[in-house]
Amino acid sequence: MAELEGLEFGKSDFVLLDEVNMEQFMENLQLRFEKGRIYTFIGEVVVSVNPYKQMDIYGKVAIEAYRGRELYENPPHLYAVADAAYKAMKRRAKDTCIVISGESGAGKTEASKYIMQYIAAITNPNQREEVESVKNVLLKSNCVLEAFGNAKTNRNDNSSRFGKYMDINFNFNGDPTGGHINNYLLEKSRVVQQHAGERNFHSFYQLLRGGTDDMLSNLHLQRNPEAYVYSKEGASVITVGHAEEEHQKLGFNDGSLHKAVLSAMKVIGFTSEEISSIYKIIATILLLGNLEFECDGEIVQLPGAGSVSHVAELTGTEPETVSKALLYRTVATGGGEVIEKGHNKLEACFGRDAFAKALYERLFAWIVGRINTVIEVKNYNPALHGKNTVIGVLDIYGFEIFDNNSFEQFCINYCNEKLQQLFIELILQQEQEEYHREGITWQHIEYFNNQIIVDLVEQLHKGIISILDEACLTVGKVTDTVCLETMNTKLGQHPHFTSRKHCPTDKTMDFQRHFRIRHYAGDVTYSIEGFLDKNKDPLFQDFKRLMYNSADPVLKEMWPDGQLSITEVTKRPLTAATLFKNSIIALVENLACKEPYYVRCIKPNDVKSPVLFDDARCRHQVAYLGLLENVRVRRAGFAYRQPYARFLQRYKMTCEYTWPNHLMDTDREAVEAIVTQHGFEGDVAYGHTKLFVRTPRSLFTLEQERAAL
Ligand code: ATP
Ligand code: MG
Repeated sequence: MAELEGLEFGKSDFVLLDEVNMEQFMENLQLRFEKGRIYTFIGEVVVSVNPYKQMDIYGKVAIEAYRGRELYENPPHLYAVADAAYKAMKRRAKDTCIVISGESGAGKTEASKYIMQYIAAITNPNQREEVESVKNVLLKSNCVLEAFGNAKTNRNDNSSRFGKYMDINFNFNGDPTGGHINNYLLEKSRVVQQHAGERNFHSFYQLLRGGTDDMLSNLHLQRNPEAYVYSKEGASVITVGHAEEEHQKLGFNDGSLHKAVLSAMKVIGFTSEEISSIYKIIATILLLGNLEFECDGEIVQLPGAGSVSHVAELTGTEPETVSKALLYRTVATGGGEVIEKGHNKLEACFGRDAFAKALYERLFAWIVGRINTVIEVKNYNPALHGKNTVIGVLDIYGFEIFDNNSFEQFCINYCNEKLQQLFIELILQQEQEEYHREGITWQHIEYFNNQIIVDLVEQLHKGIISILDEACLTVGKVTDTVCLETMNTKLGQHPHFTSRKHCPTDKTMDFQRHFRIRHYAGDVTYSIEGFLDKNKDPLFQDFKRLMYNSADPVLKEMWPDGQLSITEVTKRPLTAATLFKNSIIALVENLACKEPYYVRCIKPNDVKSPVLFDDARCRHQVAYLGLLENVRVRRAGFAYRQPYARFLQRYKMTCEYTWPNHLMDTDREAVEAIVTQHGFEGDVAYGHTKLFVRTPRSLFTLEQERAAL
């Protein structure tokens, strides 16, 4: 068995702290980080601190050490949780899920990849070809999704700009048979604009730096990302040494990653026509970004006719229809008449950007869908093959508190409220049910139930999303400010919504432009500016029709709604916030019927240093991840439980009544003898079928004794 850690590395489970308080928690976290122990348990939850350096704790040998073991038999590791989820799935036919949370750069995506690699490594011992191919596609999908869904931000060079939930399906042997990916809220605004020092999605740079000369010339592209408004934005601003170096490193990677992505797409099963269509769309977006509109009096024109014909060629459309879609919109008048209305310059720019964003968003969704068609479980017959079980892995944006918080942060933080709610419900509810089943007295734990905040955001008619939607659907110009006024009036009394009524003297926010939500993780002030536009997310029907009429079948497939004429278009499409809310409600419902495992990721500093433990930054994360509360819940209950027979099997050699001969009548009595001999009667409770152990300390003692024999 792998060696357990000595005390010089701190406590390997926060449940073992002498006292549960922030000081002790932080001290232990820091000590372990400094000693290179990046993982620590809270019961079955793994707390992970990003090491910002390669660690020698992954790979074959480590995987073997964790395979099939109990959590406390080895030092804390992602592999331990992955194994626990896998065991629950295999032994008890339970659907499980692993929820990975933490802020940007905390290591969620890396963790999800290690977990997937672990699962891939321990399954299919017989190397069956069809299972190997499923595993291969699942692993390769990461590379493609990262190319199209990740970008360099100021927080993380490889930041996922979408939420990802991946189901892996298993047959009765415990081998993967397929999977399904859901993506959430891709940050499409990045396609047309990036903050200083940030980049667009990797895919643009990969194509420009890694595509062959022929490929680029066929796509009418120059090699230099600086040549395109959409790809130069943030990157061009970099001047300082370190950042420049990082960019060069990224630039260097872009080229080789392009080849890796192409090869991954081929392995997954994308056809060469599909791959070609994908890059034509990427090129189209870059060319669109460089289109400029000129004003001749009231009339807007496109001086760069050449690019328009390139866009037409790449999208399988006609130059005249492309120009028309960029310069006019079709509107239905009240009398049912259809007219064409010319854009002013602002509208034309807005339309072009909305089109570019929608092209990318649909491309991304299509890629995810395409991967799903390959990995979906086929020909599975439960009568023949037994129950099909699932492990879900959720890698989703953590809580965000920025200097300027907008619609995206509002959605992301709402999602975190929902996940927190699930965490509370599942952890507490599950505990209570098990104690009840096993006949053990359970003491009730006080905790903050954040349902009230969830309601504040999502409640029908009264919640913030409803108010936003109403404002978006109101005919005429409802401005952001007017909408904020409505929120203030309707929600002014809500204890988690700050309005002027609550703190008339608060100088930290401007009540004309801001509102504040008291989230479970802390107060966040949102700037209302742009909320309505982002929520309405308008795209002129002309663009949709243009794409639906494309000669490129892949592109056409992405725009089914383009077949509607302007008079048929539904008047009230669902808003961005409502679509997001619905997808998150579905996600939570899906997670709720699975047995959950948690990985809580912490980012140790903002400068990607492997040695710096920024106490204030970490403290803040520990607070909003609710880790102390988690330890308290865990300590109030029993951290570990084990069926009597299994416990006996593992520890019988440590007690004279059970080794070499089992002298007791029942397994339970034998277990009682072991517990009494080691003197931790006070730390356990005896259930109908299982032994419950309050702290891992007792188990560690047994483990050490067992190892010493
Ligand atoms: P985002 O929300 O922005 O997507 P994230 O939580 O997914 O962030 P990652 O992309 O997983 O963060 O990690 C950021 C970077 O930190 C990685 O690119 C890698 O350099 C480093 N890192 C994270 N985890 C590890 C690890 N276990 N070992 C070594 N380096 C790591
Ligand atoms: Mg990520």
